[in-house]
Amino acid sequence: MRIGRTLPPAAAPIYLKNIVDGLKGFLKGDQEIKRFESEIEDHFFSKHCWLVSSGKAALTLILQALKDMHPDRDEIVIPAFTCFSVPSAIDQSGLKITLCDLARNTLDFDFEMMRRILRQSEGKILSVVPTHLFGLPAGVKRLKEMVDDPEISIIEDAAQAMGEDHYGKKLGTIGDVGFFSLGRGKALSTIEGGIILTNRDDIAECIDRRFRELKTYSDAESGVLLLYALVLNLLLHPSIFWLPKSLPFLKLGETHFDSDFEMKKMSPFQAGLAKNWSDKLKYFQERRKECTNSWMPGIRSGHLSHFVSEKRDIPSLIRFPAMIRDIAKKNRILAFGDQNGLGIMPTYPSAINKIHELKEQFEGMDFPNSSELAKRLITLPVHPFVSNRDIERILDILNKAGASAFFYRL
Ligand SMILES: *Cc1c(COP(=O)(O)O)cnc(C)c1O
Repeated sequence: MRIGRTLPPAAAPIYLKNIVDGLKGFLKGDQEIKRFESEIEDHFFSKHCWLVSSGKAALTLILQALKDMHPDRDEIVIPAFTCFSVPSAIDQSGLKITLCDLARNTLDFDFEMMRRILRQSEGKILSVVPTHLFGLPAGVKRLKEMVDDPEISIIEDAAQAMGEDHYGKKLGTIGDVGFFSLGRGKALSTIEGGIILTNRDDIAECIDRRFRELKTYSDAESGVLLLYALVLNLLLHPSIFWLPKSLPFLKLGETHFDSDFEMKKMSPFQAGLAKNWSDKLKYFQERRKECTNSWMPGIRSGHLSHFVSEKRDIPSLIRFPAMIRDIAKKNRILAFGDQNGLGIMPTYPSAINKIHELKEQFEGMDFPNSSELAKRLITLPVHPFVSNRDIERILDILNKAGASAFFYRL
């Protein structure tokens, strides 16, 4: 067990001031929800917005609403490499998962494969879910142009990309309907939480019907969130993060498949936690951008392989993804990073088709790029707790491990 400065792989700090605002929000009740809702609608130029208990709940609600609109369709096309919450939500909604591999060097869909899927499943697809993994903008517009069936809705998974722009458009608002996650380790956090956005009145009507059936947090549940907020406020800091990290029952950083989860309306406490969210988010984004930039010189000299286009503005990622060719060496870097508390982490443990509960459905199918990503992708931390000294230490360790020899050059 390591005792000493330890970086979390991702973090959106919750400050004491936020917790005080959370308590005030709790006392204000519904009014606080309305405030957060209308701020989101204004900021994202979105006609409709709903606040729920998680990104997973947001996606589930969207899927249920779309299913209500098109009961004869049931296929949802998602990336074969994504957060396990996504197939969980589809499973919970009683819909069918169709996987599309990712392109080798973009973390976006393999558009050739997408074209085949759209042709083969004509009339059955309810929705396609482009995903801004780690905050890297996916080609939602390109996908929109490819999908010529007006009954297919594009759900933009912006769970990791709140506040990011792409060609002047705000991520999460380019598809027919989009969602953010406010979970731990996302761009902004209210401990748990999700936001749905849409400008489509027909979709909004159906989401609204489903949303009204949800219950909200009980006072006891809000109390648990308060405790969580206090604990995170204390323990997420690098000087103490070694402690929660060493407690296996906290299951920090684990992602698992779970198709039986609770869906609630967001609580006023959470909306209060998010007070002044846009200033806070802007500050986090600036820090993340600086950090992302710090990883770039190594990349330019060919040491790292990455997915950030140098031709465009640097996005403020929530984790910096990099590929390593040699798995033994990848494991050495991870072990090295772990011993030194550097916040270097693997990503999702497998491609979606290899999830135990889903394996049978995808028997005999192969998604080679997604499998490769699951095996070889690591992330470097870019969150606001990462100091210049940390960056030096990480680069030093990558160099010592001979990173230049085993990071891909794409
Ligand atoms: C986190 C995440 C989700 C789900 O959000 P939760 O708030 O954790 O339920 C969905 N999609 C992606 C890409 C995510 O990273």
